[in-house]
Amino acid sequence: MTVKGLMLHSVATPQPEAEVFINAWNKPNITKCVHAFIQADGKVYQTLPWNIKGWHGGKSYSNNYYIGVEMCEPATIKYLNTACTKIKDNNLVGTKNYVMGTYNTAVELFAYLCKQFNLDPMTDILSHKEGYKKGIASNHGDPEHLWVKYGLTMNDFRRATKQALESPFLVRIITNSLNIRTSPEIANNVVGKVYKNDVYTIIETKDGWGKLKSGVGWIKITEKYCKRL
Ligand SMILES: [Zn+2]
Repeated sequence: MTVKGLMLHSVATPQPEAEVFINAWNKPNITKCVHAFIQADGKVYQTLPWNIKGWHGGKSYSNNYYIGVEMCEPATIKYLNTACTKIKDNNLVGTKNYVMGTYNTAVELFAYLCKQFNLDPMTDILSHKEGYKKGIASNHGDPEHLWVKYGLTMNDFRRATKQALESPFLVRIITNSLNIRTSPEIANNVVGKVYKNDVYTIIETKDGWGKLKSGVGWIKITEKYCKRL
C-alpha cells in the first residue's frame, strides 16, 4: 500500500501478551490483521510487512492507507460493558504502569515509522476513535477509552512522537555558563555546569529544557542560552 498514515489501536481486552493475539489471529478465515502488537515491556511484535495492507480500521480507507498497530492491555482491568467505557481497575499502580509502558513504546515505534515513510506526526497519526470521527474507520473508542483515566490524549501522543522523531539533536552553548539541573525546573538541584561553545547532544526536551545525553541532567535550551545545530 501507499502509506499515508499510522492508526493507533488498543486491544480492548485485558490481555498483556502479544503472542496470545498472534496465535489467535494467525489462522485461516480470520478477517482482521494488524501490522504490529505492542507490549508494555517495550517489545514490538511485527505481524505484517509495513507496506502490505492489513484490516484494522473497519473501513476501506483506513485499511488501504494506514499502518495499524495494536497496544496490548493490562491483565489488571475488567471491562464492565461492551463499549469498554466502564472499567474496573484491580491494581491502580500496575494498570497505570502497563498503560504508560505501551504508550511510551508506541511513541518510539511511531517515530520510527514516521521516519521510514516520511510522515508528519502532527497530521498523519490517528487513533481508531479519531478515524471514526473522520469517517474513515469503524465506530470504536480505542485507545482513548483506556487513556482518559490518566489524562493522556492523542495530541500528547502526536507531540511526544514528534519530539522522539526530532531527537537527539545537538546544541552549542552560547551563554558563558549554564547550570545542569537534576530535572527540567529552575528550582531543582544544580549538579554541574556547561560552558560557552561546548556542544552537547540533547535526547529529550520539555518546556524549553533539554536532557543531556551524558545522563547527568537537564539544561535550558532556549535561544538565549543555546543554538541548535
Ligand atoms: Zn481499534
